Amino acid sequence: MPDSPHVRISEVSKSFTTESETLLALDDVSLDIERGEFVCLLGPSGCGKSTLLRIIGGLLEPTTGDVSIGNRTPGDAQAEKSLGYIFQDPSLMPWRTAEDNIRLPLQVNRAKNRDSAPSVEGLLKLVGLERFGHYYPSQLSGGMQQRVALARVLAFEPSLLLMDEPFGALDEITRGAMRYELMRIWDADQKTVVFVTHSISEAVTLSDRVVVLSGQPGQVKGIVDIDLPRPRTDGLETDKLFLEYAATLRGLLSQEITNG
Ligand code: ADP
Ligand code: MG
Repeated sequence: MPDSPHVRISEVSKSFTTESETLLALDDVSLDIERGEFVCLLGPSGCGKSTLLRIIGGLLEPTTGDVSIGNRTPGDAQAEKSLGYIFQDPSLMPWRTAEDNIRLPLQVNRAKNRDSAPSVEGLLKLVGLERFGHYYPSQLSGGMQQRVALARVLAFEPSLLLMDEPFGALDEITRGAMRYELMRIWDADQKTVVFVTHSISEAVTLSDRVVVLSGQPGQVKGIVDIDLPRPRTDGLETDKLFLEYAATLRGLLSQEITNG
């Protein structure tokens, strides 16, 4: 079924109940994501971005509505390792070197008889760390640790990558460089990516489409197609079209803040 979306989010709502109240975090969110598409979920802090990503990844059940990943449930996709998760915290095993952090999922992958499984060397090269395989996480910078985390997830060869503010803890300069690094890796084999951010420039740099979520409860406020040519490389931020997209997104977000 080449035409069915890779991810289908249908009328998803999520409420959280604590002792004192019930909070509606997501309200009736529907979205189709095509195979190979790079989609950013952009919205203010607390609007439900992580909650939506967790529901897509099968880490959380929606209260109503449902999600399918290539006609499977998120739980099945998760069990098959056909989706990979990257968080702000790279969560590497500190007692393993970079290459040993990557090797573990590779062994699991080989055991599943995926003979196309990439090599440790190939993955380190892909993320630009070929000289650092024998380093321990504590000997690597934040950006390098996040590259190892990315290589570790790519070892499973997931067709869907879910990224929750993966560069959020990095300094501005490293963060900017990591965007283009991610674009280079994504250009190499176009996986479907759902990327959560509250940074407008990050969303414009990376996305085919930006989904703007409103503040609590999270609803789809607008969807903006980003028709900037690829490959996207350093210097894009000064492009006239880039600035127009950024202004459009800022407009959608500021309405949100004024109304809220
Ligand atoms: P974002 O990632 O956009 O910053 P989140 O998805 O983390 O937002 O949270 C959305 C809302 O849901 C917030 O108000 C948050 O307090 C609430 N929330 C998230 N997880 C839980 C939980 N496990 N229990 C109660 N409330 C939660
Ligand atoms: Mg979040």
